[in-house]
Amino acid sequence: MATITLENLSKRYAGTAKDSVRPKAIDDVSFDVQDKEFMVIVGPSGCGKSTLLRMIAGLEEIDGGTLSIDGKRMNDLSPRDRDIAMVFQNYALYPHMTVYDNMAFGLKLKRCSKSEIKERVMQTAQLLEIENELYRKPKTLSGGQRQRVAIGRAIIRRPKVFLFDEPLSNLDAKLRSQMRIELQKLHREIKATMIYVTHDQTEAMTLGNRIAVLNKGKLMQLDTPLHLYNCPVNKFVAGFIGSPSMNFIKGILGKVDDCFFLERSLDCKILLGSDVPVKIQRKVGEEIEIGIRPENIILSTCQQDEPASCLLEVMAFENMGNEQLIFLILQSETIVARRNSQEMVDIGSRLFIELRRGGIFYNIKEEF
Ligand code: ADP
Repeated sequence: MATITLENLSKRYAGTAKDSVRPKAIDDVSFDVQDKEFMVIVGPSGCGKSTLLRMIAGLEEIDGGTLSIDGKRMNDLSPRDRDIAMVFQNYALYPHMTVYDNMAFGLKLKRCSKSEIKERVMQTAQLLEIENELYRKPKTLSGGQRQRVAIGRAIIRRPKVFLFDEPLSNLDAKLRSQMRIELQKLHREIKATMIYVTHDQTEAMTLGNRIAVLNKGKLMQLDTPLHLYNCPVNKFVAGFIGSPSMNFIKGILGKVDDCFFLERSLDCKILLGSDVPVKIQRKVGEEIEIGIRPENIILSTCQQDEPASCLLEVMAFENMGNEQLIFLILQSETIVARRNSQEMVDIGSRLFIELRRGGIFYNIKEEF
């Protein structure tokens, strides 16, 4: 049982004489992690993810706010008294020890009996499928095997909470996706509370029960993966979650009969339809901004929409077999569309765009 509560956590690293007014690395962050939850913290490099994780682990001092585990204040407890295990990106294995000794080390410190250590090492090794590597040294293992040993060393202690700091970043793409599935399985089997830090939104979306999106030390939104995707609270989250990113298009709101459109220029009007939110309907003649995800841009070679029409030039084309990304020039900007098709598209050719109704976001607010 482990519920983690962060209340108004803040941290500012000491500045040098040159930059004495450093911004806060963590700025008033509050959220709860439920018992047995897999919480992912995601955000761009430098947003404060590792700092926050290290504050929870007890490796960084907390300047303001309260950190509690199961209702007990942790701020001043040393890392070893928090019953937490942390897995790092660089594995941090002892190079001179075998896999067996690396995993057994923490249990030896706890003065467990030899037979108990052996039983737990075997059990953990089986869970992680490294039982045939127990007598090898870390340098003879592949990246994936080393990462499993690092995870094994953490879970063997059966702590209340697991913290993962970008543990899969050093692995190649195929191994990363395999390890993602194994981590999900591991989470189901050991039923522990886990906090996982990553800059990779795909990893966040696939692993998290819930995801906390951080930017510049601040919590932007905490939600389930689908809710983050469908209802982002601001432009940062809208642009960060989803790959390729959401397209943002500005233009003047126009109306003919009961049909609204976004006017970029006289010969580029994008149809929005009639079900535009009432708040936006009042902005005819004003500039608005829409957000549209790549899969909600429909491309065609002949004009579909009346009274609007927008014919754009193809700048680049990526064919992935199962889907295609098509980059189009919209005046000085680029927008990207995604479709499931194997039909080739010529660079420099021109395609009409249409937006899928229901997929349009209106005037998403700025982040701060
Ligand atoms: P992330 O893990 O999201 O990449 P970090 O938590 O490592 O971000 O860093 C957040 C901010 O704090 C960054 O601006 C970084 O430069 C700064 N920072 C991190 N560690 C230190 C440190 N030991 N001393 C001073 N500044 C630091």
